[in-house]
Amino acid sequence: MTFSIIGVAALSAVSAYISIVSLSIAASRIITEIRSELYAHLQRLSLAFHYQAKSGDLLTRITSDIDRIRDVTVNHALPLMINVFTLVCMVGVMFWMDWELAVIALAVFPVFLLSTLKITQRIRQVAQRQRRRESAMAATAAESMGAIKVVQALSLETMLAQLFAHDNRKSLEECARTQQFSAGLKRTAEIMAIATALVLWRGIYLVQQGAATPGDLLVFITYLKTAFKPTRELAKQMAKITRGIVSAERIIDLLNIAPEVQDAKGAIAAPPFQGAISFRNVSFAYQAEPAKPTLKDLSFEVQPGEHIALVGPSGGGKSTLVSLLLRLYDPQLGRILIDGQDLRRYQLDSLRSQISIVLQDSILFGTSIRDNIAYGALGATDAEVRQAAKLANAHDFIMALPEGYSTLMSERGVTLSGGQRQRVAIARAAIRKAPIVILDEPTVGLDNKSEQAVNEALSRLTQDCTTILITHDLGVSQNYDQILYIESGQVLEQGTHAELMQQGQHYAALYQLQSAIDVKNSSHEVTL
Ligand code: ATP
Repeated sequence: MTFSIIGVAALSAVSAYISIVSLSIAASRIITEIRSELYAHLQRLSLAFHYQAKSGDLLTRITSDIDRIRDVTVNHALPLMINVFTLVCMVGVMFWMDWELAVIALAVFPVFLLSTLKITQRIRQVAQRQRRRESAMAATAAESMGAIKVVQALSLETMLAQLFAHDNRKSLEECARTQQFSAGLKRTAEIMAIATALVLWRGIYLVQQGAATPGDLLVFITYLKTAFKPTRELAKQMAKITRGIVSAERIIDLLNIAPEVQDAKGAIAAPPFQGAISFRNVSFAYQAEPAKPTLKDLSFEVQPGEHIALVGPSGGGKSTLVSLLLRLYDPQLGRILIDGQDLRRYQLDSLRSQISIVLQDSILFGTSIRDNIAYGALGATDAEVRQAAKLANAHDFIMALPEGYSTLMSERGVTLSGGQRQRVAIARAAIRKAPIVILDEPTVGLDNKSEQAVNEALSRLTQDCTTILITHDLGVSQNYDQILYIESGQVLEQGTHAELMQQGQHYAALYQLQSAIDVKNSSHEVTL
């Protein structure tokens, strides 16, 4: 008998342990999946979303909100279910013992539920405020750390630190407030003491009437008191779970945002492009200003392998135009074709993998130079990385770094010079071996020597590719096959440098103005 009791107790302890551990592991796995899905979802969301969202806020959601959900599901949801189950069983036993006393004991339960709901509602409001504030703090920190050079140059450290400290204090106050409400929630369980008093009052009467024995009453009251523990635990867990729900809502809000640009139904993988590009009556307005189109009924054609330069005043729509070619946005009107087929026919990945891009200030990731180059074509071999680096005039300076291709970049690659960063970016573009190349002012801000090295790399990169260059330097654009003068979202002039000069309009005027400034600058340099 004794052995049987010990055996049953041991078995129940082991099975409880296994069930808790396996449920916790299952919950952790699900949350880990949700985090990965959330990250992948964020990457797919449109630029319009990312330009509006604060990166600090997104980081808070993907890290601490997910952690909070994990903590609640693993540490509190399961015990909550166990407590609810225990309470239901206990109520059943109480009814079996004496239904009348059980009804009296349960009479206070609605009061307990109501006060619990009211307090959890308050916890929820404060927790929502606190999460928003913590997101704002993370956003301030991410923004200021990302622009630390500007912050220090403008001596904004004290002001930003004060702003941060203010939000930090508020967050602490809100945290204290939720703790206060949580403590209040635990106290709601004390309402159950009233149930004991009522049961005692009615029980004594029943004993006096001979309808129950003092022993029955004692057993019932003792049992009722043991029901306090799960009730108290339940109240405690509700506070945690409410905060977890707030975090879950923030995650669901993000997951519910649909990517604006996505594969159309029945989209196919793009075949290897020849590189003919055609914009036909394209109109586009950013979401922020739907009534003010950035591109207006814009049309032009580019032949495979042709090099075109987009020039014109700032804000004319040049960068917007190439964003549409990459399908970072879709036009509201008109069509964009590659080799005669609408871009929307193709799966996004297969379209973008055939377009290389070099921007004005290329961003490098905080990983090795090798990986930074290989990001241009995932799965690239070391030999391909080296080949691309050689084409980009980057191999020699990379080999001179302490750890060569394995040298780790600092965040955004700021430890390299501007020209070196551009050459790594060109290598990243080159490794893609894409038939279409976009260059967005890739040599701006470089000194003459770096510019020369970058230009050499660029001409190797763009050889035989359809190339679109955005530039304000008409000295560079004059060697291009075609020049598009873009102003106020329209192509006002199109042709070779000679043709546009002959027309003697916008482009010619801009070219003459630039030439005059160049002459003035060079004579100033000579005088100095
Ligand atoms: P620059 O030569 O200075 O680079 P650009 O010709 O490339 O200028 P775009 O950057 O395409 O011009 O901008 C065209 C217009 O669209 C500008 O008025 C700009 O303010 C607006 N714009 C650009 N990006 C956005 C955005 N993400 N949301 C809202 N408006 C935008």
